[in-house]
Amino acid sequence: MDRGRVPDSPVAGEFIASPNHGERRGFGRPDCMIVHYTGMPTGAAALAWLCDPASELSSHYFVWEDGRVAQLVAEDRRAWHAGHSLWKGESDLNSASIGIEIVNPGHGPSPGADDPPPFPAVQIDAVIALLRDIGARHDIAPERVLAHSDIAPTRKIDPGEKFPWETLWRAGIGHWTPPAPIIDGAAYGRGQEGPPVRALQALLALYGYGVELTGVYDKQTQTIVAAFQRHFRPERVDGLADASTIATLRALIDGLPSRV
Ligand SMILES: [Zn+2]
Repeated sequence: MDRGRVPDSPVAGEFIASPNHGERRGFGRPDCMIVHYTGMPTGAAALAWLCDPASELSSHYFVWEDGRVAQLVAEDRRAWHAGHSLWKGESDLNSASIGIEIVNPGHGPSPGADDPPPFPAVQIDAVIALLRDIGARHDIAPERVLAHSDIAPTRKIDPGEKFPWETLWRAGIGHWTPPAPIIDGAAYGRGQEGPPVRALQALLALYGYGVELTGVYDKQTQTIVAAFQRHFRPERVDGLADASTIATLRALIDGLPSRV
């Protein structure tokens, strides 16, 4: 491993070069940050995999449980962490982002049965410092700090509903709003169709999710609602569009900076 380089971020203590990167395409500079968990039994195994040419995977940064940060790929290069993904119509998120892998074993093979362990506070403090530094240097908007599950909801659930988005938001990182309280009552779910379902899909698309406006509460809608809940209403991740989910989505959209 090449440990000679100076990291782009002062928050990173060392550069451990991964060979897995390429040229940024299109716009050519990052305008979002994508947060992942490693989802492997140990951080050492994850780091070795992200530096192995056979994996064809990498991230720009790697955050250990104890808060140490390593840089694996230079920020001006395209790291390979997003995979097939979509946000606000952009499908090459690798070219448009900085990727941050956070050491956490994740959900295991059967989500729901295997709860991921919590992220240690010292690790989250390091994530906050790192995102603050990258965001300031690249002028990244708060609403463009995203989960892997936001941009690839049918394939990915990381960094998971245990990731403390609220803590980040209270530290000035990312876009979030206190979720509307969960109340008993009707919820939209699989098989329902009509204008209210299409309106929900339109709201999700307006926020950025890659949802097709089918007017039917189909599998993709259920999956994307679950991804939304994982990030913004983590108390209950069930893929049902209840009043709390819809009110939280509306509050987020209302809180977006208006674009002239
Ligand atoms: Zn990921």
